[in-house]
Amino acid sequence: MSAENKAENKMDKIISLCKRRGFIFPGSEIYGGLANTWDYGPLGILLKNNIRDYWWQKIVRENNDIVGLDASILMNSKVWEVSGHVAGFTDPLVDCKACKKRWRADHLLEAKGLKPDFEPDVELVDIKCPECGGSLGAVRQFNLMFETNIGPLKDEGSKVYLRPETAQGIFVNFKNVLESQRKRVPFGIAQIGKAFRNEITPGNFVFRTREFEQMEMEWFVKPGTDEDWFETWKNFMWEWFKNLGVKEKDLRFYEHPKEKLSHYSKRTVDLEYNFPWGWGELWGLANRTDFDLKQHSKFSGQELSYRDPETNEVFVPFVIEPALGLTRALLVLLLNAYEEVETRSGNEDGKHETEIVLRLHKAIAPIKAAILPLSKKEPLAKLALEIQASLAGSMMTQYDETGSIGKRYRRQDEIGTPYCVTVDFESLEDKQVTVRDRDTMAQERVAIADLRNYLINKFL
Ligand code: ATP
Repeated sequence: MSAENKAENKMDKIISLCKRRGFIFPGSEIYGGLANTWDYGPLGILLKNNIRDYWWQKIVRENNDIVGLDASILMNSKVWEVSGHVAGFTDPLVDCKACKKRWRADHLLEAKGLKPDFEPDVELVDIKCPECGGSLGAVRQFNLMFETNIGPLKDEGSKVYLRPETAQGIFVNFKNVLESQRKRVPFGIAQIGKAFRNEITPGNFVFRTREFEQMEMEWFVKPGTDEDWFETWKNFMWEWFKNLGVKEKDLRFYEHPKEKLSHYSKRTVDLEYNFPWGWGELWGLANRTDFDLKQHSKFSGQELSYRDPETNEVFVPFVIEPALGLTRALLVLLLNAYEEVETRSGNEDGKHETEIVLRLHKAIAPIKAAILPLSKKEPLAKLALEIQASLAGSMMTQYDETGSIGKRYRRQDEIGTPYCVTVDFESLEDKQVTVRDRDTMAQERVAIADLRNYLINKFL
């Protein structure tokens, strides 16, 4: 099988698993769908929330110098004029004259080893449509911001944008946070929320969608210390994914060349992941300098500087920004966890089958433990349900009484459940259950009275 087919195959398998087991469904499916929109099902939302909480834990709860914020998606349009998004948040777009397929002009040039520089309205004569070989039209700059209107009148005055990044909500609240929290530089403001970009070429499942979630943190520092802080956060990003079990061979840093930096950036490094189709951005780190605060200060007329209480020195802080896509991180963690193994658990008829094991880190696994009575008959089922009830509120569990025990283990392996608790006939006598570990498949007998603490300790 070619590398390309293998890559498609793995993505197809993950998309199908996600649908079958209730992680992610195609959006608006009963109406024929809406291309590149995805809905998170019962297991998907648990997984997504767990990843979100893990980020919040490491960023906000474990750092006394970082506070949280939840700003509006809709903001005064001036924000986006001043930030440079109205004029410059564009991608170069080109249409095939024959098949009408739409391409990113810079991607087509890069694929040919050419520099992605072009004058507006110039036709890409040397390059043909990769799909049908047809001629391409003129390159147009396309602004990625979604527009809508506030109130009943649809005119320029009522126009607003859906935010294309969460960061600006943080910059415009800089003064509010500084004054209300009495923070001292260096300090950070973290935010998680939806962002919208009218991407020209969305795709690869949830890798690139037009509606997605970002987890961003703006770290405000004294100018001159920014380069050291950049290194600190760069290391943090690597460690964060490593701690979640992502294989280091699939991670690398990409340093953006100086001439390709965004208008606000002094330095940008991406943490990249080796996706089935190649390396791609996962987590961007930018030194945004004092660009945003200075711009907002200039155009709002508000003072957005900081006075050092010890030295009385006044300065506009520099900003180091690690920006991670929550939904893109979820895809990476699924890809990293997905494994196919030969039959390993109790296949009664001795057949060789391929089983899926989702080796998700315990902290993010949607279901922490499954409760499996060996028989659905009483009094076993009753005892198993009592055990499940005793865990409610402490962790997410699933109760499953149908099919052979091997089949039930496989169902749980497939969704990444770290522990299966089997309730058997002996449990009625000795008041113990068997706990099976997803990864080692080791089985341990545990007293029912101790089970809750036993499992809680596994997740500390
Ligand atoms: P790309 O080069 O992939 O378009 P970007 O450089 O425009 O990404 P940033 O503006 O740095 O992305 O956004 C920060 C993070 O948000 C990215 O690293 C990625 O994880 C996530 N992200 C950006 N665009 C999308 C999208 N359309 N769908 C899902 N996640 C996204």
